[in-house]
Amino acid sequence: MADPRMVGVQVQGQPQQQYGGYPQPSPQQSYGQQGQPGYPPQGQPGYPPQGQPGYPPQAQQGGYPAPGGTPPQVGFAPGQPPPEGYQQGGAPPAAAGPEPSAPSVDKMDSISGYEGVGFGSAPPLPPPSYEEAQRQPPERSSLPQLPGITEEDAREALGQYVAEQCCYGKSPAQELKFTDIVPSSAFHYTLETFAEGRSTAWAYEPFKGQPIDGPMNGPAPGPWDIQAQAPAMFQNFTQQVEVPHTASVKPCHTCLGLGRKPCHHCHATGTSHCHHCHGSGRTTVYEDGHHHHRCCTWCHGSGRRQCHQCHGLGQIPCPTCGAQGQLKCYIKLTIKWINHVEDHIVERTALPDELIRGVSGQVAFKEEYPRVWPINHFPEAEINNASQNLVQRHSTAYPTERLIMQRHQVRIIPVAEATYNWKDQPYNFFVYGFEHKVHAPDYPQKCCWGCNIL
Ligand SMILES: [Zn+2]
Ligand SMILES: [Zn+2]
Ligand SMILES: [Zn+2]
Repeated sequence: MADPRMVGVQVQGQPQQQYGGYPQPSPQQSYGQQGQPGYPPQGQPGYPPQGQPGYPPQAQQGGYPAPGGTPPQVGFAPGQPPPEGYQQGGAPPAAAGPEPSAPSVDKMDSISGYEGVGFGSAPPLPPPSYEEAQRQPPERSSLPQLPGITEEDAREALGQYVAEQCCYGKSPAQELKFTDIVPSSAFHYTLETFAEGRSTAWAYEPFKGQPIDGPMNGPAPGPWDIQAQAPAMFQNFTQQVEVPHTASVKPCHTCLGLGRKPCHHCHATGTSHCHHCHGSGRTTVYEDGHHHHRCCTWCHGSGRRQCHQCHGLGQIPCPTCGAQGQLKCYIKLTIKWINHVEDHIVERTALPDELIRGVSGQVAFKEEYPRVWPINHFPEAEINNASQNLVQRHSTAYPTERLIMQRHQVRIIPVAEATYNWKDQPYNFFVYGFEHKVHAPDYPQKCCWGCNIL
């Protein structure tokens, strides 16, 4: 190379034609035809998975009686005083066992295509198959040249860097004598795969008379038939959608349809212990050299006060159904757009590789396609290999997601390693990135006098 300060992408010994056209990918590299290795999952019919684990009908076991079984004799109408069972201060029925955390799956309507769906978190659903039309790899143009880092740049960058460190001595940066500046280039390859995962689960919300789109309106669409557009490409996002034609109204599993539940604070009695007299109904005052008992003015001697949680009613509005007594149950589709990012850095000096990620450089190459072809035209074989490996990996790494779009790029980041003498000792430092960031771990005056004492 004529000018050693010009940091180009042309590496000596590499044939010129490497920059130009884009050879056809070899058969192992090619993608696209259905059934070829490397392309995910291929449309198993009949999702969702049958018999998913994790949906035991817990709601039917023990504890609160299941709705529909025994009539809810324990209930009491809103506004009415609690029935006797509660007044006695005995444990309310809810104390006999844990409340069901969700309605019983058995009570849900049977929705064709959604058999086996439960409440709570759900496993991802296998995506439909990816069918790609015959396609041609793109034309790829030659790669750009990159300006290098000069001695002047290096000195200025070091001076700036030293000025920003609170106690670095300035004299080495001003007095140093450069012995060499070796320019090179780091390469940063990034592959992004933007994909979409879907899962379904039963969900519920208070029924307040909102429209119910139930099975009477037609068969429910399959989870992957529901149209949804990612709000932005290559960004993570989660969206939840009600699956059409799956809704119905059910009695609330928490309050058995009553809209209210016993107050736990007062055990449904409506009164609680008076904290001022500790339930004794009287307080002690010291007067005229003697202790006197007085009637507690807070509870008027009863030792009990109105429960502040339920205002004396012994019952509270049911939080599950918002005191409505009824729930709208429906199948909820959760759509997760995920951007999978992986990269590879080629940097051959002693500069720590990860520093390359944080600085800007020249984007030498960028492509975006539903499925990208691995790079094979870059003059740095390690980048081609990294691209080959990562593209191959991403093609099978996310079998439960539908791949929407991929993009990859190579950035070229200038790096210069400067060596210099100061007080007859050799040192070196690195300048990298368009910002001319400095990495100088052995800078000779890193601590001022004050630092050394501390
Ligand atoms: Zn309820
Ligand atoms: Zn209460
Ligand atoms: Zn009291």
